[in-house]
Amino acid sequence: MGEQRTEIVLLGTKGGPRVGGARKNPATLLKIAGLPYVIDCGYGVSTQLLQAGVALETLRYIFLTHMHSDHNLEYGPLVYNAWANGLKHRVDAYGPSTMNRQTAAFLDSMQFDIGIRVIDEGRPDLRELIVPHEFDTDGLVMENADVRVSAVRVRHPPIKDAFALRFDAADRSVVISGDTNYSPELIELA
Ligand SMILES: [Zn+2]
Repeated sequence: MGEQRTEIVLLGTKGGPRVGGARKNPATLLKIAGLPYVIDCGYGVSTQLLQAGVALETLRYIFLTHMHSDHNLEYGPLVYNAWANGLKHRVDAYGPSTMNRQTAAFLDSMQFDIGIRVIDEGRPDLRELIVPHEFDTDGLVMENADVRVSAVRVRHPPIKDAFALRFDAADRSVVISGDTNYSPELIELA
């Protein structure tokens, strides 16, 4: 365990897709070994990360708990904003069900702008930097030298693919769920 303790920053804690009020739409930041891990991308997540002191171009990992818009609306724009701010490395993005399709659709919607900036500004091609990963079962989602991430399905009908995530870092473990009803599975995960 180094000086860089794992930290949790609540970027958005408001439920529901409506915009406005004192709280922002759902998003959470974990800082693990100095790297940002973003869980859920509600509207406003980019500016909330900046408020939390995270340089967007350091974005490396994104996780979506489920595909309600208050959890995914700014997923594509967040990656885009990181790229606009100078992102040059790969971003791995993990989510259930439509993660691949959503990523491709966003990149397709921005293809003109991305293509222009690659030529005009010499930027790396965003379409090659973002790597989506879909998961649809309980268990290991990703693992690197700093953290092991596992998922469990929670109860958010009528959505079937709704998950909680457990992050096991060297110094502590953190469990974050998306929306759920009472869920023994979540209790077990934590
Ligand atoms: Zn939801």
